[in-house]
Amino acid sequence: MNYYKSCTLCPRKCMVNRYQELGFCKLNNELRVALARPFFYEEPPISGTKGSGTIFFSGCNLKCIFCQNIQISKYNKGLKISIKRLAEIMLELQKKEVHNINLVTPTMYIPSIIKAIKKAKRNGLRIPIIYNSSGYENVNALKLLDGYIDIYLPDFKYYDNTLALKYSKCPNYLENAMLAIKEMYKQTGPCIFDKNGIIKKGVIIRHLVLPNHIDDSKKIINYLYNEYHDNIFLSIMNQYTPNKEVKNKDLKRNLSNSDYNEIIDYAVNIGIKNAFCQIDGTASESFIPDFNFEGVKKET
Ligand code: SF4
Repeated sequence: MNYYKSCTLCPRKCMVNRYQELGFCKLNNELRVALARPFFYEEPPISGTKGSGTIFFSGCNLKCIFCQNIQISKYNKGLKISIKRLAEIMLELQKKEVHNINLVTPTMYIPSIIKAIKKAKRNGLRIPIIYNSSGYENVNALKLLDGYIDIYLPDFKYYDNTLALKYSKCPNYLENAMLAIKEMYKQTGPCIFDKNGIIKKGVIIRHLVLPNHIDDSKKIINYLYNEYHDNIFLSIMNQYTPNKEVKNKDLKRNLSNSDYNEIIDYAVNIGIKNAFCQIDGTASESFIPDFNFEGVKKET
């Protein structure tokens, strides 16, 4: 089946033929990648000491007004590559001795990514593969990934769907994120780490705490703990930084330390043990890479 011919790869279900027209994400059927290199700013079990072999795909199926990566998410910056080249990129990253392959915003490219993973595995890819997404996923598309993905790293952005619509142009975010995480957990089971603390299998859920919306954060944390207890890990992030295009008054400032500490205290008080948190001063543009196509073109 050719999934690009009537695209339902994400919950928007645009049903467009991506060979001829564009849906909400404005991506056709071609693979586009903006950057592929070892990255050291992920959670410690992902970055480890050698980095995560991160592949940043172009485009996004959300339109978050506060996105830090607007060059790729809004302007779809990226180079067109073949499936064969994507498989080579995975192997080149493995050669650099990274701990894993980290597919960032892969949702719109699932069928091509599966073909590339198969090819790369036939040619010697053996490190774990991470699916790093917004959490706004169509479960039927996720099912195609069963057996190919070792670690899921989804965001859980909103509990309140009115916020999802207002900030990310995203209808029914909550229901879709809940179903997606359920499917992800079904595929991987609880987190497994090697003797050095590097994750081999499992689900880590990221939540970026937004200024002026900490009640929404508490609802997300509460839901995840009640549903999954200590079988998943949470990554509670304080690095919200308004980009230059943010006009909304609630989102025009960084998150305060006191708000972030309140969320961490909340998580600890309800019993969460498996969580990563960030230290003061991590809200910085240093997390945002330069999407300069490094590692995308074949080295000559
Ligand atoms: S990936 Fe999502 S947004 Fe893009 S065309 Fe398919 S259904 Fe629409």
